[in-house]
Amino acid sequence: MPVPKRKTSKARRNKRNANRNIEVCNFINCQNCNQVALPHQVCQFCGFYKGEKVMETKFDRALRRGSARQKVAARKPEATDVEVVEQPK
Ligand SMILES: [Zn+2]
Repeated sequence: MPVPKRKTSKARRNKRNANRNIEVCNFINCQNCNQVALPHQVCQFCGFYKGEKVMETKFDRALRRGSARQKVAARKPEATDVEVVEQPK
């Protein structure tokens, strides 16, 4: 009867057994944006869960910040609009 020449090390055994309990995740399509998403979790693309907006996404935040920056820029006068008055010597 063939016998293993060496003892299987713990590292080798554990590496082999590391894949035993891996389960394949299920994916669903988001009801709102139809992107692939994980079930029972908020969609990372649109921030919707069960048809309701529950989370602000990075894109929303960027949009909000962009519009806020435009408002600030509109409020401030441009540097070119300021007249430079030369003082007489
Ligand atoms: Zn979505």
